[in-house]
Amino acid sequence: MENTEKFERTCVIIKPDGVMRGLIGEIIKRIEQRGLKIVALSMIWAKKEQIDSHYPKDSEWIKRLGEKTLGTYRKYGLDPIKELGTDDPYKIGLEVRSWLLEYMTSGPLVKMVVEGIHAIDMVRKIVGSSIPANAEMGTIRGDFSVDSPDIANREKRAIHNLIHASETPQEARHEIELWFSPEEIFYYKRTEENLMF
Ligand code: ADP
Ligand code: MG
Repeated sequence: MENTEKFERTCVIIKPDGVMRGLIGEIIKRIEQRGLKIVALSMIWAKKEQIDSHYPKDSEWIKRLGEKTLGTYRKYGLDPIKELGTDDPYKIGLEVRSWLLEYMTSGPLVKMVVEGIHAIDMVRKIVGSSIPANAEMGTIRGDFSVDSPDIANREKRAIHNLIHASETPQEARHEIELWFSPEEIFYYKRTEENLMF
């Protein structure tokens, strides 16, 4: 039976670069070794409409994508107008969102539901910063990826950062409902549960 008080659920997706680089096992290992439990797991080659439903559409979220580009441009003294023709975070964000649809449908994905204590924040910590060049060593992105918005945007593509993980309980609920039917999520106990918490 689900123990809703003790556990939280989050949605994790290994992106096409993670799958094609043979990092499925490494990524799952890091999640499991921390004491988090995989309760659903499958591979899918997603359609653009599915990815479009996966990522938020509100202007705040889109602007935030653009801000990531602008922050990196400021840091490295690059001119967004010269490079991208605009310094409007919303316009840049919209472009980035369309590149995301290309990226996420460029190969198969491994999608899972991960359950555990503070699972959403814990998995985000294991994953590391969205911008691989800034990600801490010891995180999945920090140990296995190098990409940065200034390079990615120049090439008109999304940042390749191996993995997606829900950021908030609302995102987690939305994504789990989008990618999984209730029968695909399983209830079982890991043997360490009585010892670890
Ligand atoms: P995260 O995946 O860490 O939650 P976001 O939700 O901010 O990051 O962005 C979703 C995905 O969009 C990122 O993982 C990355 O692949 C891509 N992305 C984000 N910002 C940019 C950007 N400025 N330029 C290119 N791609 C980006
Ligand atoms: Mg996100």
